[in-house]
Amino acid sequence: TKCSQGGNFSKGELQRFGNIELSPSSGVLNYGQGLFEGLKAYRKQDGSILLFRPEENGLRMRMGAERMCMPSPTVDQFVEAVKMTVLANKRWVPPPGKGSLYIRPLLMGSGSVLGLAPAPEYTFLIYVSPVGNYFKEGLAPINLVVENEFQRATPGGTGAVKAIGNYASVLKAQTAAQAKGYSDVLYLDSVHKRYLEEVSSCNVFVVKDKIISTPAIKGTILPGITRKTIIDVARSQGFQVDECYITVEELLEADEVFCTGTAVVVSPVGSITYLGGDKELQSISVSLTLGTTLELACILSAANLLVCIYKLKD
Ligand code: PMP
Repeated sequence: TKCSQGGNFSKGELQRFGNIELSPSSGVLNYGQGLFEGLKAYRKQDGSILLFRPEENGLRMRMGAERMCMPSPTVDQFVEAVKMTVLANKRWVPPPGKGSLYIRPLLMGSGSVLGLAPAPEYTFLIYVSPVGNYFKEGLAPINLVVENEFQRATPGGTGAVKAIGNYASVLKAQTAAQAKGYSDVLYLDSVHKRYLEEVSSCNVFVVKDKIISTPAIKGTILPGITRKTIIDVARSQGFQVDECYITVEELLEADEVFCTGTAVVVSPVGSITYLGGDKELQSISVSLTLGTTLELACILSAANLLVCIYKLKD
């Protein structure tokens, strides 16, 4: 059915990782009708495996599917498929403290479509891979550069969902920044070119005088599951957390900046370089302290155990 949520997805089956067959005229290859998710399975000391809030990813995929005019699996189907895939690959879940198993669900328009239209058929698949730290710095602070040529998302676009095409459009800025020695770029809003949005694959938080703030969800940034968790955890610890507009000037006066995401978990930011603006700034590097960030990272890793819903057993 066109643009419907109620897709009729059959129960999937496991198959060995390998190439898949796709029509050259499939919706995903021609019109980018594709979404993905990312989540992790962790091994605990007692050997059991934990998934971090998988139903949140299932829900986000459904919201994305609605935007991309695709049907999607139900949250139950999504979580069941994740569990099945992780259990089948449990020997690849690293020991505690040695990384995690990254889980990548993909939803795509796999049916043939020549004129611009939603694909007539969809495929949902999941693959997994053991991973270590996302940034080569590990838990050491990363260095961000504020991007002032390219934008990640525009109002009314697809920035708030995990559309595959969103990631193609950040590669140019990201690789250019990395070639200059930065860890990643920090995007500003596309209208005023002044308010913080997010990094290529994580959300951003600013700490000033112990008050934590993060860009509000307003249709152009991804509602991160780690972001939501950190907000809840920080508030429950008595921190004030504001979801608001944050200017680049406020960023440069922050005491601490950190990024959150499934891949990066909580990554402290050590310096920010800003080469734009009307103040004829060439470059400002801020050296940041890390107290609140590390406190939250520790609370999150303890909270991980509290909020992980699924303990997988055979
Ligand atoms: N923003 C973007 C653009 C992302 O790709 C991600 C990773 N999913 C995030 C933020 C962080 O979201 P989450 O905490 O759900 O991984």
